[in-house]
Amino acid sequence: MFQKVHVRLAALCAGITIFILLVMSCGYLYISERGLRSSSYTSFQNDMETLISSLEQQTIITHEWLTRIEDNGKYLINVIDNGVPFLYNERNTPEQKQLFETAWDVYNRRFEVKPLLSAYDTWHMEYSFSSDGGKSSDYYACVITSERNTGTFQVMILCSMEPLLAQIRTQRFLFLGLNVLASAALALFSWYFTRQLLRPLEENQRQQNQFIASASHELRTPLAVILSCASASMRASREEQTHFLESIHSEGLRMSRLIDDMLLLTRAGDYRWTIRKEPAELDTLLLDTFEAFEPVAAERSIRLLIRLPEEAVPPVLCDPERIRQVLSILLHNALSYTPEGGCVRLSLISDGKTVKYQVADNGIGISDREKKKIFERFYRADRARSEKGHFGLGLCIAAEIVHAHRGRILVSDTPGGGSTFTIVL
Ligand code: ADP
Repeated sequence: MFQKVHVRLAALCAGITIFILLVMSCGYLYISERGLRSSSYTSFQNDMETLISSLEQQTIITHEWLTRIEDNGKYLINVIDNGVPFLYNERNTPEQKQLFETAWDVYNRRFEVKPLLSAYDTWHMEYSFSSDGGKSSDYYACVITSERNTGTFQVMILCSMEPLLAQIRTQRFLFLGLNVLASAALALFSWYFTRQLLRPLEENQRQQNQFIASASHELRTPLAVILSCASASMRASREEQTHFLESIHSEGLRMSRLIDDMLLLTRAGDYRWTIRKEPAELDTLLLDTFEAFEPVAAERSIRLLIRLPEEAVPPVLCDPERIRQVLSILLHNALSYTPEGGCVRLSLISDGKTVKYQVADNGIGISDREKKKIFERFYRADRARSEKGHFGLGLCIAAEIVHAHRGRILVSDTPGGGSTFTIVL
């Protein structure tokens, strides 16, 4: 499912960003081309202005002057004196002659009304046209009409727009190349970005699935006992029935505890924890837990010791019930995983800035590989050794409570063997 969503999200993200990129690029290209065309036309007009002022100073138009004007083939020139083509025009190739015919044709059609000129008047007109009759122009043209005492003198100057068009083509190719590269980069980025975006969701989904699978597995055992006890009690004698009912009751309690733990963790996952903070005396909390577990320790022949700081610890803002729950989980574990004759030490350490609780045992200990996993939901290092009441949720609940208090929970080896859990508040 996530693969499909990833592909769709990446395609959507890439599609939108590439579309925006293309629209912006096309806009920029359009503006840039307009600028290029307009500056090229302005440059042609300026050249023509210079040429006209030079023409006005010429009394006789010589071939040398015309050759100089041609500027090494940059311009093509066609001269008509009193309606008669100048001899100079003969230098043009048949294609160039055809080009001039088209240019004169466009000029006559476009500028039908021409001003009446008095002697020594000069009039000029610039325009662009297409040499093959198409829509896009590929030549600039300028027609200078000069009224002289010898009659009307007309010079047509043509300038190819090919350098400008080549520049525009190069720019378009460059843009195309850049857009292809940028689109590929955006597609890659979208793929990576959406992958990162979906990863926590995927992880969450995986954890939920695992949680449901583990929870169902844990619930199945007591349920199986309840069902088999119920069916056996139907055929059993009165005394046996009492025994079966006791089993059903204890398994029911086990299920209820497990469900309570699961609900607690579900609320923690949804950030629906209710932490009711109030100033609490941490030494009193530890003493209460110590006293509550003393009979259990005695029953298991485990020495339970407590060490409190000599100076009174100032009250700390926390949820006393939740902290008591954490201490119970750690102490319950310590007593469960410590063999008979062992020792469990409870300590409260204060250095002025932080307060630490420590639950140290000299029991079976936890390997370094397991230390990383014991805070995961339903993780039990050795299922065979775990007692019935252990579901692998205790440390996970403890860690959630400590984190909700912005504290840390750490596990280390007790010198000489066993495990030490430290809560830093
Ligand atoms: P459980 O309910 O199984 O004790 P926890 O989440 O409290 O679940 O602990 C997870 C696992 O961490 C336990 O199954 C056990 O293997 C290991 N563990 C926890 N506390 C201790 C301890 N004091 N000594 C050794 N192993 C421990």
